[in-house]
Amino acid sequence: MPETAQNFEGLRERLDEVRRRIETCARRQGRDPAEITLVAVSKMHPPALLRQAIEAGASDLGENRVQEAEAKIEELGSRPPRWHLIGHLQANKARRAVTLFDVIQSVDSLLLARRLDRLCREEGRASLPVMIQVDLAGEESKTGVSEDDLPGLVSAVKACERLRLTGLMTLPPFFVNAERARPYFRRLRELRDTLSSRLDFEDSRGELSMGMSNDYEVAIEEGATVVRVGTAIFGERGVKPPGQSH
Ligand SMILES: *Cc1c(COP(=O)(O)O)cnc(C)c1O
Repeated sequence: MPETAQNFEGLRERLDEVRRRIETCARRQGRDPAEITLVAVSKMHPPALLRQAIEAGASDLGENRVQEAEAKIEELGSRPPRWHLIGHLQANKARRAVTLFDVIQSVDSLLLARRLDRLCREEGRASLPVMIQVDLAGEESKTGVSEDDLPGLVSAVKACERLRLTGLMTLPPFFVNAERARPYFRRLRELRDTLSSRLDFEDSRGELSMGMSNDYEVAIEEGATVVRVGTAIFGERGVKPPGQSH
């Protein structure tokens, strides 16, 4: 994982800046900034950089691959930070995920939900907070459950003894103009509101995990309670040190 000094320089300032913008944006909406969790997405960055973020007060880190996260969690420990899995979870990695992560945001199928529930039992984990990832764009390359299949998956997750359904997560297509992501954020909120009125979530409200470096302010305007911000905090991923090729 090559990393330039740039990633390390100013990390605290970038983290503070993101926090400040979240706070300003929340207040502008008449919302309490404390109800918004910043998940610092640390995928593809080395443990030393993550350590710096933790020391600067990052409480929640997001990783999208189990194997990569495992090495980091072994080195850095858990609690703090809380570790969120935000990437697609393959069946053969599910057992490790159950023992490693505090929250799994990317539950997207009935089979996966039932597997996680069984693995919690086998691993002696009493309760695993999960979110359902919804694919609102219908893109075949993306993971997530379709809107049509969402109600069925919600019921299935709720029927799982050891899973705690805390909310919904989405990853819209990437737009340079963040405003174009707004309809997706709005739609996720509508879906959340429908489900929360049926008391489908553990806490009555239901979390909304949406918004990344490019569009987290738009997501907060649409009700995000969890934003997943990587580049704006850690810098570009996988940048090579000057003079190094490949
Ligand atoms: C990488 C990633 C992010 C963070 O993306 P940035 O644009 O770097 O902020 C957020 N959510 C998911 C699911 C990701 O894979």
